[in-house]
Amino acid sequence: MKQSQLFSKTLRETPKDEEAINARILSRAGFINKLHAGVYTYLPLGLRVLNKIEGIVREEMSALGAEEFLMPALHPKEPWEKTKRWHSFDALYRLQSRSKSEFALGPTHEEVLYPLLTHYIASYHDLPIAVYQIQTKFRDEARAKSGLLRGREFRMKDLYSFHAGQEDRDRYYDAAAAAYKKIFKRLGLDALETKASGGTFSEESLEFQVACPAGEDTIFFCLKCRTAVNKELVKNATPACEKCGGSTEEAQSIEVGNIFPLKDQYAKDFGLTFKDKDGSVRFVSAGCFGLGTSRVMGTLVEVFHDEKGVLWPEAVAPFKAHVLEIGTAVKNYAAAFAEKLHASGIDALYDDRDDKTPGEKFADADLIGIPWRIVISEKTRTQKKIEVKARHEDRPVLMDEDEFFARMKGNQ
Ligand code: ATP
Ligand code: MG
Repeated sequence: MKQSQLFSKTLRETPKDEEAINARILSRAGFINKLHAGVYTYLPLGLRVLNKIEGIVREEMSALGAEEFLMPALHPKEPWEKTKRWHSFDALYRLQSRSKSEFALGPTHEEVLYPLLTHYIASYHDLPIAVYQIQTKFRDEARAKSGLLRGREFRMKDLYSFHAGQEDRDRYYDAAAAAYKKIFKRLGLDALETKASGGTFSEESLEFQVACPAGEDTIFFCLKCRTAVNKELVKNATPACEKCGGSTEEAQSIEVGNIFPLKDQYAKDFGLTFKDKDGSVRFVSAGCFGLGTSRVMGTLVEVFHDEKGVLWPEAVAPFKAHVLEIGTAVKNYAAAFAEKLHASGIDALYDDRDDKTPGEKFADADLIGIPWRIVISEKTRTQKKIEVKARHEDRPVLMDEDEFFARMKGNQ
């Protein structure tokens, strides 16, 4: 992709109305644009990252045996009244149609899914079921100053599983927790499994927390076995690890995922029952598994940045390589090299801009944060080499093209 044709432009100045590091860097680097507090456009660069994050989530959901579907974001009031959340869900966006019918913008989807499932579940033969979606959610957050970490419109993967009994539900819950661990590892995040209260959903839940100063949660995590508890939510959280007795450290953290055993809570509201093997009619038992994909994008920037810009982990980087053409004399060679990268399946951004100084190109490359920077200049051409630098390293290395391609291959 030629940078001269890229829609996104980097900005000289950090937007004055952004406080959070992730929003400041992502706006300046041309990944996102703010429409309103907590409401962002994903520009082409940003959408590339979001799609990569959601691609990893999709792969692991599929490996878990869950099927993808898509529910509506516009919900009628009635099911929200049935669960008594029309009034109790503080962050619910409520709106009225021209015919004065009332609607909510979906902040979560039990109110859509449970009525739907009453048409699909009749007997134990119909269970288990696991469905998920990746969708835009709406929450009227009181405070939306954390950029992508707390959106009023944001992206979430929500998985729901339905079972004939607790044993099967627990089995799936453990498998889903393992899938979450895999996802965060692939995303490059060190997410701690954290015991927490379930809020409006259930008595206890498991959160996936990334220790980071930008986080709005506080956790205690064990320095020895890495068991973590949420300070605010879990009553009687103690400074000593309850699992191994090791000493714990208090840290600010970001909740990137949250899984709950829903049990039969909403099944009772909607009469979601099934006929069991012995003929008895029982409520369906469920699990609910949320993961904030746009919050993950903000978290990655909070964790992987320096004073110059982002350092994207390769799995989620908008491009793998960034080719900087320094001076128009090397244009033909640089264009051919970018074409070669493309032909070998290496996704590259090629800075072919004639109206930028070398300094501006270097600064933009650091700001955007693509993992591999390749500089092509008259000097490197004279030496018949290219200059390669990993974003996290200080010094570039001169190498042959072949050496670079071999290295990229080993790296894939
Ligand atoms: P928080 O406590 O941070 O408000 P929550 O516990 O209300 O979040 P859940 O209902 O558990 O959120 O939603 C599942 C996941 O969706 C969260 O773990 C988080 O990753 C993401 N998420 C929730 N609210 C937001 C938001 N306002 N902006 C971005 N992501 C969010
Ligand atoms: Mg939560």
